[in-house]
This record gives sequence, C-alpha cells and structure tokens, in this order.
Amino acid sequence: MAQEVRGVIAPGKDEPVRIETIVVPDPGPGEAVVKIQACGVCHTDLHYKQGGISDDFPFLLGHEAAGVVESVGAGVTDVAPGDFVILNWRAVCGKCRACLRGRPWYCFDTHNAEQKMTLASTGQELSPALGIGAFAEKTLVAAGQCTKVDPAVSAEVAGLLGCGVMAGIGAAINTGNVGRGDTVAVIGCGGVGDAAIAGSHLAGAAKIIAVDIDDRKLETARSMGATHTVNSRASDPVEAIRELTGGFGADVVIEAVGRPETYRQAFYARDLAGTVVLVGVPTPEMKLELPLLDVFGRGGSLKSSWYGDCLPSRDFPMLIDLHLQGRLDLGKFVTETIRLDEVEKAFERMHAGDVLRSVVVL
Ligand SMILES: [Zn+2]
Ligand SMILES: [Zn+2]
Repeated sequence: MAQEVRGVIAPGKDEPVRIETIVVPDPGPGEAVVKIQACGVCHTDLHYKQGGISDDFPFLLGHEAAGVVESVGAGVTDVAPGDFVILNWRAVCGKCRACLRGRPWYCFDTHNAEQKMTLASTGQELSPALGIGAFAEKTLVAAGQCTKVDPAVSAEVAGLLGCGVMAGIGAAINTGNVGRGDTVAVIGCGGVGDAAIAGSHLAGAAKIIAVDIDDRKLETARSMGATHTVNSRASDPVEAIRELTGGFGADVVIEAVGRPETYRQAFYARDLAGTVVLVGVPTPEMKLELPLLDVFGRGGSLKSSWYGDCLPSRDFPMLIDLHLQGRLDLGKFVTETIRLDEVEKAFERMHAGDVLRSVVVL
C-alpha cells in the first residue's frame, strides 16, 4: 500500500518551500522505503529551490539524512527492515568501467529508485533532491543508497555524513591523500571546509591553515583542528600560507569555495609538486585563467573531489565508528535542530552564514 506522508516541496523557481502531503509507493525490486529520523539543510537544497540545478520542479528537498529502513522490495539483500542507515547519493552500479576497474568511488552510473513519489493533491511526479528527498517523514530510494552504520550514533549527527561532511573529510583523506606530517591549507570554512579541516586533523596533518573572510568562521575552524587561521580580507592568503610553511606553500591546498579567485589562491599557495583539491562547487559562467607554464612548472596535481571521492559502504561505517570512539567529533557540525516546517527559515540563516548546519529532526 502506497503511503501518504508530509514532505518539504520546492514548488517553483525562487518560491518559498512548503509542506505538502506526498505519496510514497511501496518499494519495487531493488528499492527501499526509509523512515527519516534527521536530515541536514545543505546549500544544494537551496540551489534546487533557486532553480540552479535543474528546472524539474516540484522538488522534494533534503538529502543529508539518516533513518530506519521500513520495507524493502524484491531482491534486496544488503539491508533489511529495522536497519539504521545513512542515505547516500551515489549508489554504485558495480558494472560500469570505473566499477569494473576496482574504482567504484568514481562509478559513472550510480542509481536511484525507479518509481516516482508524487504530490497527493495533484498526482504530479516529484524530483527528489540528489535522488533522495529526505525532508519527509518517509522516502523511497534505491536500496544501494542505504548504508548501514552503528545505530549507537544519533541520527542528527549521522545524517550529515550523507553529503557535506563526507565531501569535506573525503576531499582531505581520499582526494588530497593528506597524511601524517603534511601541511594543509583550507580556503573557505563553511561546513565542507570545516570537514576538510577535521579530516586533515584525523589524518595527522602537522599544520592546518584555515582561510576565510569571516572571523567567526575562523574561530569555528580552530575548534575543528585548524592550527593557524588567515583572514583573507586582512592579509594576502598566498603570502600568509607561504610564510606559515617556511616560505614554500602547503603540501595540500583544499579549495572549498568554488570561485576562480580562490582557486588561483589555492594554486599559488601550494608547494612545488603539491596538490590542489577543488571541492567547492563553481557556477556555469565561471572561467579559470592560469599561465600554462606555471601549471607545468610547479608540477604536482590539480584534482577535483566529488562527494569526497567516497565509497559510502567503506567510509560511512568507518567514520561513524571513529566518531563513537571520540576520535572525530561530528557533533560539532550540528548548530541547531529544527522542525520540518522551519526549513525556509534555515535557508535564510545558512545564507547569512549564521549556521554550520541546521538539522531537521523528525
Ligand atoms: Zn559503476
Ligand atoms: Zn548536500
């Protein structure tokens, strides 16, 4: 029996979000229905609402979520009703050229539920944000989007690993390969940048330099493990990072803003043969211009990090275990918990830079 639940809908470009009754079908083959317990508010949800991702309105927003599997469809063996899971937006296929070469974190054919959730009032099909749609009491996903983790963790903390926090930690430990003794600089200290700092700290970086234009954010960055901070309004970040690294630049520079100016800073703030990781998300009109001779002459690698190059089945349970052991404090990312009907207000606070993460608790 299909079920009717409440969910947060973005009805059209730049229109305020609102709660509507949505219809969640029974899971078909390879699908699962998950009862959502908590879901973080991410910039990507705001981009959906603003029409910056696609025009497939109405969207069912929310994608940083944890909850309990309620039912599964035919052929599902990896998860069962009652399992506590974090939802991921990259359910790997196991068959594409990346998967077949043993690099499933690059999977080129990730999948979502086949069936559509709909609006109860009009029967209109909903587009779930990142194939998840978890600002809702229940949602329908592909079973591969459910990653089981230790249920001892609280849902509001666990859900954050489903997107931004994983993207940042992964940018450091997976894409940037930050290791013991490395120097790291992180440009942009929002949720993703702070997670990159926490990831670098976890990996044993010797020096972690946080760069932002907002002193409040630099303060938070320190609590995440930054050893030095640079306000790039007050001083040139490239100079400052070089100065803090013996005149050379950092081994790994993580760009968590997604703008040509900050990318250029990252490029020149890295040591010879160092690594730049772009994890900030640019917009379509942005262009990058760099002297090709510098790209060649400085060596090293320029990488981008998608979802922290994570493999959910490998990384989610490991990071939750580290959190439960007190070695990675994911709780610091939760600024406030809110109700389902407070998402619009949370967007405003996020836009103003007042919160790291607001988390809807159901
Ligand atoms: Zn694949
Ligand atoms: Zn997100």
